[in-house]
Amino acid sequence: MSLHLSLLSLFILIMRALSFPPLFFPPKILNPFSFCNPKSMASFKPSIPLTSDSAASVPSSRTSGEVHVIMGPMFAGKTTALLRRIKSEGNNGRNVAMIKSSKDTRYAIDSVVTHDGAKFPCWALSDLSSFRQNFGGEAYEKLDVIGIDEAQFFEDLYDFCCMAADHDGKTIIVAGLDGDYLRRSFGSVLEIIPLADTVTKLTARCELCGKRAFFTLRKTEETRTELIAGADVYMPVCRQHYVNGQVLVKAARTVVESHKFKSDTFPEVAAVV
Ligand SMILES: [Zn+2]
Repeated sequence: MSLHLSLLSLFILIMRALSFPPLFFPPKILNPFSFCNPKSMASFKPSIPLTSDSAASVPSSRTSGEVHVIMGPMFAGKTTALLRRIKSEGNNGRNVAMIKSSKDTRYAIDSVVTHDGAKFPCWALSDLSSFRQNFGGEAYEKLDVIGIDEAQFFEDLYDFCCMAADHDGKTIIVAGLDGDYLRRSFGSVLEIIPLADTVTKLTARCELCGKRAFFTLRKTEETRTELIAGADVYMPVCRQHYVNGQVLVKAARTVVESHKFKSDTFPEVAAVV
């Protein structure tokens, strides 16, 4: 019985200690490079997080991260807006890095390039979880702002944004398509809306009437969700022209399919006759 009691007391003591972590640990792990000389801190790896008192002396911009989402149809200027923001952060003395999907090789492998030709060097990756390792742990610690272009292609977008913004104190600026050519959610872009500080939905100009365009119309009969192409395959359209365009594309697809069917079956028919 006494053994049981002492075990119970020990258990309660442990549970009490665990139930008051704020007395011993701050809510966020701070980046030591944000307020210390990197040279003197080169070999410093804090074994326990820093206290809340020291957090108060750290500039607020480094105590917690941010997530900003720029979305919209193709040709809405999402990459241009992302580049403008990243360049502005860089000009303000913040360390910046840009990531894009290695799936998108339309303009360049190592640069983010807008439809009108503006460029910025970037890391082309197949997933975001490999960024830290590729970029280098120490260099990552010093980063303030990370831009992610064509974010719909990254399956681990949600986890990366949580880790980088919540735990690593980074500002993440994400640009990507919210919907595919069928106006269905594309990749994980919509999943990070609940994580975001701000969400901006940009619009393009309808290629057919010049009104604001919210959607991307695929002009061909191709049905794969991921078909990376430009103005030869896609165009921005308003709601009315999206609906009209879908009808036309469906009709064209039916004609093409029936034509294919006829040419496939014709030799057999001929053989039977
Ligand atoms: Zn229109």
